[in-house]
Amino acid sequence: MSPSEIDLSVVIPVYNESANIGPLCERLGPVLQRVSAAWEILFVDDGSEDGTLAAIAARNAGDSRIGAISFSRNFGKEIAIAAGLDHARGRAVVIMDADLQHPPETIASFVERWREGYVMVYAQRTSREDESPVKRGFARLFYRLFDSFTNMALPEGAGDFRLIDRRAVEVLRALPERARFSKGLYAWIGFKSVGVPYEVAPREHGTTKWSFRKLFRFAFDGITAFSTVPLRVWTYLGGLISLFSIACAIFFIVRTLLFGTDVAGYPSLIVSIMFLGGVQLMSLGMIGEYIGRIFAEVKRRPLYVVAERIGNAAEVTQELVPGERRAARA
Ligand code: UDP
Ligand code: MG
Repeated sequence: MSPSEIDLSVVIPVYNESANIGPLCERLGPVLQRVSAAWEILFVDDGSEDGTLAAIAARNAGDSRIGAISFSRNFGKEIAIAAGLDHARGRAVVIMDADLQHPPETIASFVERWREGYVMVYAQRTSREDESPVKRGFARLFYRLFDSFTNMALPEGAGDFRLIDRRAVEVLRALPERARFSKGLYAWIGFKSVGVPYEVAPREHGTTKWSFRKLFRFAFDGITAFSTVPLRVWTYLGGLISLFSIACAIFFIVRTLLFGTDVAGYPSLIVSIMFLGGVQLMSLGMIGEYIGRIFAEVKRRPLYVVAERIGNAAEVTQELVPGERRAARA
């Protein structure tokens, strides 16, 4: 099948999801059959170590529309999505998780809105009840920070579960950055978008791949990729501290002129030295975070390394966007 003949590609990043591949294909197949004449499922195996690829190969033997590309190691979900967009051939691409938390039936509403002319259709979770209060609190804090730091509002409760028209896919593929924060990129590219409500189901098999630490790094990546406020805030803080110290100096000069000098003041000296030292280290650290990211970008390494291909994906030799991002072949 040539690229233009495929109507709908479903890109599914998978990392150690062997138990989910079967049930997912069973549920997804009939839905796709209903909404599209020509579809493909493209798994992106993000360096699984548990036979996920074998499970996909078994599915591929029964239905050649199911294929996969497999990374040489774990590169992370964001990179897996980027690879999926590179290799998907459909006129629209649906991105979803493998653990059946994203109900495949929602895709029917996606396609409906897409045919109405929307370029991007995202699923919007109706509640975060399934998550712990702490995680929910941090999520809310993150969205508020992101909003005020970047002047770019992310739609509430929208994640990677979405349909993207070919036009927007090409734009996303042309964004060369390595520290990828897809949610921000979706918002950044614009286009006519609409949300479709959905209920998050509990995870079918296996465990979540996100530790708290990983989520924190992810949130940090998101903010630093779209905002320089964390860099600039030190200018203001430094200015405030300078003003305060000038006020202090004037106070001490006046006091010394009026009442003479004494040796007291050791505690205040230590406190102010430590405070300033802390502020300086923090601001240096913040600058370091950005320099680290600049370093990662200028190295121009490929985003991912494909080690193996299954099914249709094997035929794809798509030329990537001029000069920029390139996938490496192992
Ligand atoms: N995933 C991935 N690479 C990773 C971590 C996760 O491809 O390094 C995939 C995972 O297999 C799943 C999706 O990303 O299909 C969402 O992961 P998970 O369900 O663990 O996240 P949660 O739903 O808990 O946010
Ligand atoms: Mg999940």
